[in-house]
Amino acid sequence: MTLEKSDNLKHVLAVPDFASGSIAREDNLFINAVASFCATVGAEFSMLAPRSFLEDLGKTASLLIGCDLPPGVFQADALHGVIEALVKQYGFHTVVFPSSEWGEDLVRRLSVSGNKAFASCVGFVTEHGFVQHIGQDHELLVAPCELLTLSEQFVGADARAAPTQEIGFASVSTCSVEFIEMGCEQLGDVTTAPLESARFIIAAGNGVTDWNSFGELAKALGATVGASRVVCDRGFLPRDRQVGSSGTLVSSRVYIALGISGAVQHLDGIHDVEFVISVNSDPGAPIHSRAVLPIVADANAVVQHLLEASVTKEHGHG
Ligand SMILES: Cc1cc2nc3c(=O)[nH]c(=O)nc-3n(C[C@H](O)[C@H](O)[C@H](O)COP(=O)(O)OP(=O)(O)OC[C@H]3O[C@@H](n4cnc5c(N)ncnc54)[C@H](O)[C@@H]3O)c2cc1C
Repeated sequence: MTLEKSDNLKHVLAVPDFASGSIAREDNLFINAVASFCATVGAEFSMLAPRSFLEDLGKTASLLIGCDLPPGVFQADALHGVIEALVKQYGFHTVVFPSSEWGEDLVRRLSVSGNKAFASCVGFVTEHGFVQHIGQDHELLVAPCELLTLSEQFVGADARAAPTQEIGFASVSTCSVEFIEMGCEQLGDVTTAPLESARFIIAAGNGVTDWNSFGELAKALGATVGASRVVCDRGFLPRDRQVGSSGTLVSSRVYIALGISGAVQHLDGIHDVEFVISVNSDPGAPIHSRAVLPIVADANAVVQHLLEASVTKEHGHG
């Protein structure tokens, strides 16, 4: 088997993080690493990036695809959907992420949803496959696969194309730019996505009073909004947001319950949630017993702190 000009790798989609909300040094290194990877395996290089970054990215890939998801916010479900749609639409053979927190999360999501193998932290390729860096001094050779994350130290066969410590992109001779039709609008606002399939829910109870900040926080975190029945009864959120025995039974991975007492009908609705985080000013509130992380605090103050922290992160100060 040889990876040179291998058919099954020939069209690569790279998905940098841009986690700082700008084109940071680590994004730059990743982009150069992908260019090096593509040169090594003889593949064409396409890249997904926030629409507002396309001009600054210049001719870094033969195809730049702009999307409207906001930079610096990890909207895992939305990104997952965008990438799956792109693979279908453009027929990408391989999707490459940086070996970062976000990249490692996305590659696993796609691996599960597409039932595909993935290789994590690939350091270089040989004619026999991908070599993963596992731990400080260990490497593992795995068969080439369609999903991978690249190590920061990725080294391509073409030494000139290998990532360097310098800031600056390798550039391609021709570059076309397209925009994915599904920005946030077509994907639907993640905050109002159906509760039954949401992976990350932030829910409000009667203890929440600052509704503007609560809504902003849900957006900033990319979380789907849920509510207790009292909140829906009082008209603060629509009925389709109600979690519980007479609302929706949810099975998210994470559920943040803000100012919710934890009445038995509400607890019925979160029975299948993996991790509950509760914020309630009453240390004896039943919701705390269901939580892996019970926080005795004013829910509105916690919302405010989280919102400030997410804004700081978005602007690259934290
Ligand atoms: C047949 C039936 C079906 C029902 N189905 C549902 C259902 O599907 N879903 C559902 O949710 N309920 C359901 N209920 C209602 C349920 O019994 C509770 O009344 C409801 O869940 C309470 O909502 P809550 O916890 O938001 O409000 P409350 O009971 O008013 O509790 C508010 C909580 O917020 C805390 N709090 C107050 N201020 C703050 C603050 N500043 N910071 C932090 N914490 C604060 C308080 O300590 C308290 O624990 C049902 C009831 C019946 C009879």
